[in-house]
Amino acid sequence: MSEAKLITIVVPFLNEKDNLPILLERVAGVFAARRENWELLLVDDGSTDGSTEWALDQTRTNPHVRLVRLSRNFGHQLAITAGMDRATGDAVVIMDADLQDPPETIAAMLDKWHEGFEVVYAVRRSRAGETWLKKFLAASFYRVFRRLAKTNVPMDAGDFRLVDRCVVDALREMRELHRFMRGLTCWVGFRQVSVEYDRAARLAGETKYPVWKSARLAFDAITSFSASPLRWIAVLGFGVCVLATLWVIYVMVLAIVQPQSLEKGWASLIAVMAFMGGVQLVSIGMLGQYVSRIFEEGKRRPLYLVRSDTRDPAGAK
Ligand code: UDP
Ligand code: MG
Repeated sequence: MSEAKLITIVVPFLNEKDNLPILLERVAGVFAARRENWELLLVDDGSTDGSTEWALDQTRTNPHVRLVRLSRNFGHQLAITAGMDRATGDAVVIMDADLQDPPETIAAMLDKWHEGFEVVYAVRRSRAGETWLKKFLAASFYRVFRRLAKTNVPMDAGDFRLVDRCVVDALREMRELHRFMRGLTCWVGFRQVSVEYDRAARLAGETKYPVWKSARLAFDAITSFSASPLRWIAVLGFGVCVLATLWVIYVMVLAIVQPQSLEKGWASLIAVMAFMGGVQLVSIGMLGQYVSRIFEEGKRRPLYLVRSDTRDPAGAK
């Protein structure tokens, strides 16, 4: 190491008043024993519990702390994006504010980075304090996503990871609206490696990711990375057409061989029509999903709006 490198720790937060002070303390503790320079880039995703004021206060006294405030709540993935866009470090670490991602793991990540890896993602050896339903759904999701998206997203890795400047620059090129950051960091390639950690329980406060929100993220992830569902519909439609053709042939043969039996055929005819109608509705629904995505991307809105940035005060640049 010739000159000290700058590491930006990006932490999106929404109402994490009780966790942030301890987070800062523990991150500072990690870097006290290291040679790298560091900045803690807090991204306020529309907090209302006083954590904004605490963070602002810190920026006045602690040169390591920087605060970027979004104009409202944009959600976890966009808050991460805002942080990455504004990070200046040679490497960027993304972590949650609730201390489920132990800051001490950063030391191991940095060692891997110095070895030359450009993406170091943290894999959960265990997950404390989460319901079995969430763990089960998370495990299933990763398995399905890998098969569908053909992107080798590591199993059981969250957004907790270190990425090199070159990866940050690559990610900044991707402006899609439905963002699944851990999929994107994997998609960009470069040299990737994992470190293991034990996921702790949330230190204070409530989770902001109830199961329905996680399900929405999973749906976004799959539809923004894979068009396989559309292919399945085509296959399904083809299968149904083959069956229907066989059915028509059968009915025609019956009409010649046994015409009197056909009068009883209404029930089965209606069943077939209902089945076809169902298939069509499913197909239209899925197509609609993709059309709506085109629509949303077509608007080309900014992904987020920044209210202020302590490194770049009111409107400068
Ligand atoms: N978060 C955010 N915006 C949101 C929801 C969550 O910035 O709209 C932050 C939150 O403060 C935390 C991180 O994202 O730092 C992960 O959220 P949480 O711990 O609630 O999710 P879980 O770990 O339960 O999946
Ligand atoms: Mg959490």
